[in-house]
Amino acid sequence: MKIIRLLDGKERSLLRRHPWVFAGSIERGKADPGETVRVEAADGRFLAWGAFSPSSQIRVRAWSFDEAERIDHAFMKRRVARALALRERLAPASDGVRLIHGEADGLPGLIVDRYGPILSAQFSSAGTERWREGLADVLMSTTGAQALYERSDSGVRALEGLESRTGWLRGEAGTEVTIREHDWRLTLDVAEGHKTGFYLDQRDNRAALARWVRQLGIRRVLNCYSYTGGFSVAALAGGAEQVISVDSSAPALERARAHVALNGFDPTRHEALDADVNAYLRAQIQAGASFDAIVLDPPKFAPTAAHAERAARAYKDINRLAFKLLSPGGLLLTFSCSGGVGAELFHKIVAGAASDAGVDGAIIARLEGAPDHPTTMAFPEGEYLKGLAILRS
Ligand code: SAH
Repeated sequence: MKIIRLLDGKERSLLRRHPWVFAGSIERGKADPGETVRVEAADGRFLAWGAFSPSSQIRVRAWSFDEAERIDHAFMKRRVARALALRERLAPASDGVRLIHGEADGLPGLIVDRYGPILSAQFSSAGTERWREGLADVLMSTTGAQALYERSDSGVRALEGLESRTGWLRGEAGTEVTIREHDWRLTLDVAEGHKTGFYLDQRDNRAALARWVRQLGIRRVLNCYSYTGGFSVAALAGGAEQVISVDSSAPALERARAHVALNGFDPTRHEALDADVNAYLRAQIQAGASFDAIVLDPPKFAPTAAHAERAARAYKDINRLAFKLLSPGGLLLTFSCSGGVGAELFHKIVAGAASDAGVDGAIIARLEGAPDHPTTMAFPEGEYLKGLAILRS
């Protein structure tokens, strides 16, 4: 067993059960990619078992803080079982569920989604890469899934010295799937969809929008960065008369249109526009348009805290434009999925945008990712999606 010895004082975060060891914290020791190592404090005290990653700044990701635990196939099985048990208890209102959410489920670098009978998995750390075959077997046997598609094509793999890889890892099926979410049906392609296929994290916020549309009698809805129109379907289900989906991806918009039809809504109630959101919002202001509800769910503007400043300007800009287009009494659902922009900073940015637009409003809800995307107390970095629901005065 190889030992990684930390510098004096660098044991603190592991003692708090934070699962990452940065390269700069290590005094000595090395191992092969993904190899299990014993991490010790400067005085030789046991801290954690972890997976070594020679090329990543996150040099070790902890598997376990229990010295008696062995990191073997049975361990992987226990962790997967624990994650599945949590989802059973949470019973999300969908058969599209995030089964494994990386660090939050004690499996750093592993993301697994279930879409009906199919699993989609992303192995993005040296540790999960090393255990990939065993994890695939465990996932198949414990979920009873028909097939497992691998979406190890995230950019973070390069930081771990891993090549991108996609394709069927267990079984084979069509990549096109339909899931039932709340009262509607949505489709995705596990091979082509963003990330591991679909934005399951917004599931409960889509339901919240449907509820607010109904309750507030909202008629005209603008869904910006709509992707495949999940929020648009929710708005239509809530009774909106007119919904506009704006995105810069033509295939996503094609699917948004198909979703309107699949759920039995009159296609004249929905319009899908291929445009840059920022430019579209400006043009609409010029044209004197207004909307009763606007959803802003942009892509990650700040992958890390280092990009926060530029991202802050971009968030402020679109939020200011959205406030200007919001009719009095209208609802804004605004999100950031940037890990580098915390909830407090996001709140400040949005408040600044409202003030620049010369409008006031009440925050009626603070939004986050659905509970099958949990955040553990020891790992605040896992908290990426935050949002505000604001009713304009
Ligand atoms: N709200 C969606 C997820 C949005 S993901 C859902 O619930 O499923 C972000 C989307 O923004 C992607 O679909 C991407 O194509 C789109 N996008 C990125 N940059 C854009 C831009 N400048 N203008 C319009 N859309 C953009």
